[in-house]
Amino acid sequence: MRERTTSDMSLIASKFESIAPSQTLAITAAAKQMQDEGQDITSFGAGEPDFDTPQHVKDACIEALLEGKTKYTAATGIPELKEAIKEKLYLENGLEYETNQISVNCGAKHSCYNAILACCDPEDEVIIPAPYWTSYPEMVRLAGAEPYFVETKRENGWKLTPEELEGAMSGRTRMLILNSPNNPTGAVYSEKELKALVEVCYEEEIIILSDEIYEKLIYNGKKHFSTAAISDAAREITITINGFSKVYSMTGWRLGYTAAPEEIAGAIAKIQSHTTSNPTSFAQYGAVAALKGDQSIISDMVEEYDMRRQYMMSRFSKINNIEIVEPEGAFYFLVDTSKMGLSSMNLTEKLLSRYKVAAVPGIAFGYDNSVRFSYATSLDVIKNGLDRFEEFCHAH
Ligand code: PMP
Ligand code: GLU
Repeated sequence: MRERTTSDMSLIASKFESIAPSQTLAITAAAKQMQDEGQDITSFGAGEPDFDTPQHVKDACIEALLEGKTKYTAATGIPELKEAIKEKLYLENGLEYETNQISVNCGAKHSCYNAILACCDPEDEVIIPAPYWTSYPEMVRLAGAEPYFVETKRENGWKLTPEELEGAMSGRTRMLILNSPNNPTGAVYSEKELKALVEVCYEEEIIILSDEIYEKLIYNGKKHFSTAAISDAAREITITINGFSKVYSMTGWRLGYTAAPEEIAGAIAKIQSHTTSNPTSFAQYGAVAALKGDQSIISDMVEEYDMRRQYMMSRFSKINNIEIVEPEGAFYFLVDTSKMGLSSMNLTEKLLSRYKVAAVPGIAFGYDNSVRFSYATSLDVIKNGLDRFEEFCHAH
């Protein structure tokens, strides 16, 4: 036996010292438990659509099950689904990918993690504009790389500027994570803004992970632009990420996808073949139906989200000691609570224990002076919750 030391043995890898569990999922679980105990909790927790999965999607999955489509599939997904994704990316996003550049994964969360794992070595830095979706830094750390945060400004609509990006670069920078429409700020980058960021990344040979999961949840007549469609240069360095959870209300199905330069797609295929084998077989048939079926269900959902968004906007704008930037996409409000002088954990704990309102502390998104409200919940819940939040604000 080779020499080994067993004193001070730790059962887990040292990287877990700096990894926190997901706050978005934790707060939602806490609210659910209190509801189950009979407490009257209003939850603005996880960003999970309150609509049911469309019937034709469920039917396609059931049919697949009945037909015995219950075995392993190709690691990166069934050909029908990859073809449907290829067509969607071409027709809706102006992106030409071959199916070998596409990989279907177990949720867009998994897609992001695969992409980071495929591209980053230990010691590499990944630039994450803050406020950010809570899982990005932890995925980077799990991959052994290091997150580097850039604080975006409220007055810039929480959007990263090329100057801020340039200032954040170091010899170790490997990747930039972009998320438009954004969770948690609702910011939507314009074509011009994306172009300016792409130019810096191309010049500096930085890969862009472009998480476009909220692409269709967009308001005020805004238009979504895919980063990879900005230019040929953009396509060379961008990994496009999308999924089915938000737009088709399929969170539990766990299906997302990556479209990437061939080399990166190959690495993602290897990771997937050794870790998950394939996304669930019959779920993938549901996803084909989602992409190929009636898309008007999406505009119906967007209309409903927009109505809630406008209602919340009017309520928040009447409260004195908070500030907001109007969200133009996704289904979140990031409420700036700087004037209250409470840490976001303290604020959300009080809000939950005394006012029975669950919302996610801004610290989970790298901006402690804030709290996130999701409006993927009914207008009744929103009205009731905001009455309570208003009371809380008046008392602080
Ligand atoms: N990206 C962002 C920005 C998100 O908010 C989410 C929400 N879960 C995801 C990716 C992952 O979605 P899913 O894994 O459910 O496809
Ligand atoms: N993305 C959603 C959110 O931010 C769902 C929970 C999660 O996966 O983090 O609330």
